Amino acid sequence: ENEEIKSDPIKKKRQKDYQPNYFLSIPITNKEITRGIKILQNAIIQQDRRLAKAMAGDGSFHITLLVMQLLSEDEINIGIDALLELKPFIEEILQGKHLILPFQGIGTFGNQVGFVKLAEGDHINLLLEIAEIAKRTFQGKGILAGESRSFKPHLTFMKLSKAPWLRRNGVKKIDPELYEKFVSHRFGEEVLYRIDLCSMQKKKQSNGYYHCESSIVIGKKPIGIQDLIDEALRQERMNLKSKVKQIRELLLEPETQAKIRRELFEGRLINYSNQANDVDLGMTLT
Ligand code: AMP
Repeated sequence: ENEEIKSDPIKKKRQKDYQPNYFLSIPITNKEITRGIKILQNAIIQQDRRLAKAMAGDGSFHITLLVMQLLSEDEINIGIDALLELKPFIEEILQGKHLILPFQGIGTFGNQVGFVKLAEGDHINLLLEIAEIAKRTFQGKGILAGESRSFKPHLTFMKLSKAPWLRRNGVKKIDPELYEKFVSHRFGEEVLYRIDLCSMQKKKQSNGYYHCESSIVIGKKPIGIQDLIDEALRQERMNLKSKVKQIRELLLEPETQAKIRRELFEGRLINYSNQANDVDLGMTLT
């Protein structure tokens, strides 16, 4: 496949222009894990204050399952479809079982990215299988997805690239001494419950997590009452967002604009300005 890319000038250009801006994320929500990571981050900052700016933010902890490039609303919609298609494939791989991800120890990519590792075990193969089927599903829909290097599951807690001035100030590597007390620390287990299609570049949500276009839920319902509340709120936000998107698309249609102009002329829209913040505006127009 790579040979083909090398010999085809168009594909070569496409490959060169490939700049992932979206990713599939498994959010890390287990408080035990996030607390442990905060403690690790603080322990590092205690030793070198400058590194505070290199830390992954609260609420943003995740496992990247797949990176991809989505350059327009249309491509984002194809991505949303691909994510929905992916769900039954994952459920087939898991066969009704939970995928439990135990986190233990620390690793780095070239001492530039610091992450918490997955403990050894069968869950790694299942995760690799899921990442593979995700890549095939998205590529099958014509989306540029994946990387040339192989997928290495990791839970990033710091990245020097977050603060480029560190490099200019002589911080070129994450010194292993900074995290030596944590090299075999058990951080806890996350049960795979959700996969999100997230933007790398759009403004993060107020809870610190990435901007999501869509999500799928895998397997059983969450257990705790707070999980249920969070899930219900998240679904509501998602529905509202999709409604707003529909309204925006509708407003951009020439027929709608013509209709609005016509109604304005007839003076029938006079009171509508008072309803500008009303979600029912969408219903009025449909
Ligand atoms: P994230 O996936 O958001 O936690 O970010 C991890 C960072 O590590 C990104 O900057 C990736 O480009 C980088 N990265 C991911 N996988 C690898 C890998 N296998 N080898 C080296 N760097 C990687």
